[in-house]
Amino acid sequence: MKIVFATNNPHKLAEVQEILGPGFELATPAACGITEEIPETEPTLEGNARLKARYIYERTGLDCFADDTGLEVAALGGAPGVYSARYAGGPGHDSAANMACLLRNMEGIADRRARFRTAVCLIEAGREHLFEGTVEGEITREPAGCDGFGYDPVFRPEGRQCTFAEMSHEEKNAISHRGRAMQRLAAYLHAAKEK
Ligand code: IMP
Repeated sequence: MKIVFATNNPHKLAEVQEILGPGFELATPAACGITEEIPETEPTLEGNARLKARYIYERTGLDCFADDTGLEVAALGGAPGVYSARYAGGPGHDSAANMACLLRNMEGIADRRARFRTAVCLIEAGREHLFEGTVEGEITREPAGCDGFGYDPVFRPEGRQCTFAEMSHEEKNAISHRGRAMQRLAAYLHAAKEK
């Protein structure tokens, strides 16, 4: 079953392909002729996921899904949240700058509690479905590990001694926000396929 995943990030593509398994063939927007940046202008994760999925669906008519993730830090009132990619300012997607900005803003703060939250919007047979996944944890005092991407080196999931960036892909997928949201998506898609 072919389905478009609204990302051109190879890390995310590989993570999600691993979770969905070989029964699903993921296509990128670029592979469907969509080369422009898809807008993410909504004030919520759910809104952005829906916006991106609709953008793909309106242009291709194909089954598709989109996700949006935010890192919600308790002591920062839920920031950076929906603005996680652009936390350090500028056009965004500069992980080193975003992490440095986060650690700076948390200097002297003892409460390090944080959660990653992913919202996924699927459009299947023209109908929209929302899925969510979260993982609780804390922000470390300094980066550790070099696997993964984004804020992985400064996020330690609850009950673990190491950061996401120190885990294998399998370990991270099993407990991560996106892993959990995508497992819910996968369960839905597998059931829909059997109908
Ligand atoms: P997006 O919604 O996946 O584009 O992610 C928004 C922001 O959160 C970007 O800055 C990503 O680098 C960061 N992010 C998303 N997922 C993860 C993750 O699994 N680990 C660390 N950072 C992430």
